[in-house]
Amino acid sequence: MSRIFSGIQPSGELHIGNYLGAVKNWIKLQHEFESIFCIVDYHAITVQYDPAHLRARRREMAISLLAAGIDPARATLFVQSQVPEHTELTWIFNTITPLGELERQTQFKEKSQRQESVAAGLLTYPVLQAADILLYRADKVPVGEDQIQHLELTRVVARRWNSQFGRLTGRKAEDGSEAREEFFPEPQPLLTPTRRIMGLDGQAKMSKSMGNTIGLLESSESIWTKLRPAVTDPKRIRKTDPGTPEVCNIYHLHKAFSPPETVEHVAVQCRTAGWGCIDCKKSLHESMERELAPIRGRAEALQAAPERLDEVLAAGAAHCRKLAKETMREVRDRMGFEPNVSPG
Ligand code: SF4
Repeated sequence: MSRIFSGIQPSGELHIGNYLGAVKNWIKLQHEFESIFCIVDYHAITVQYDPAHLRARRREMAISLLAAGIDPARATLFVQSQVPEHTELTWIFNTITPLGELERQTQFKEKSQRQESVAAGLLTYPVLQAADILLYRADKVPVGEDQIQHLELTRVVARRWNSQFGRLTGRKAEDGSEAREEFFPEPQPLLTPTRRIMGLDGQAKMSKSMGNTIGLLESSESIWTKLRPAVTDPKRIRKTDPGTPEVCNIYHLHKAFSPPETVEHVAVQCRTAGWGCIDCKKSLHESMERELAPIRGRAEALQAAPERLDEVLAAGAAHCRKLAKETMREVRDRMGFEPNVSPG
């Protein structure tokens, strides 16, 4: 069975943008692949942060993921910093990754422009991502369009390491040289059928930094308070003005949460001015409640039993540590290091 790996930052409770854009897909994929999902807390420290917040947000993220439907009986969920081999392999990959390749990464260029002083960790962030994936020799990585460039770097790192340190196979490569084993697979992208979920302001992608989100675990009342004033088709000024559902974020949220017949009904009612935007939002609110109320219920149960969460994360880390140690034993051997003698 193919193995997939995917990571998510410990940004606290999920919002419906990252639930619909990534996590809902993970829940489906866990039935099709051997799945490893990681809360990437080492990635979260490339910017200023508060250690107490990091601790709390890591747990909130874990609760959100489990409540959303990541099933520990089918998938492994763990915290990156509990498997130290991630940083060991990152160092190794740092030594074979040219600086120019890292400086060309679009995300680095964008993020570094906004900072006065740029930490080296921001530059080598994609190398840590490569280590995250290759440590488990994952074949496939669920990614959105914006992550393709980083995954390509992972593939290049795998190829470069294999060509330098893979064992000779005794066969000839296409170019006539001695072929080496492909110890690290070059992971393939599993392009997520992403919906770009816009924020309630209808202006920008839903994100916590923009303050335009709906939390996955928010109460029904709080969701309604946010939906009610949310931006719709700006040309629908009066209830009698026909609208264009395709330009309206509420319609796109219906497509994510409502059954097809409701979506069809929304489009017709909007185009014919058959109802007002508040009616439309009430219908969306009902659809969201159907999906989100059980998630909230599961999250409350987890919050009430913190030891259950600890158990799941400890089991996930133990499983991943075992896989990581196996990989690093082979890597150390091929690179001329002595075996790691640390216990555990
Ligand atoms: S009726 Fe619904 S889809 Fe049409 S503009 Fe209003 S909120 Fe948007």
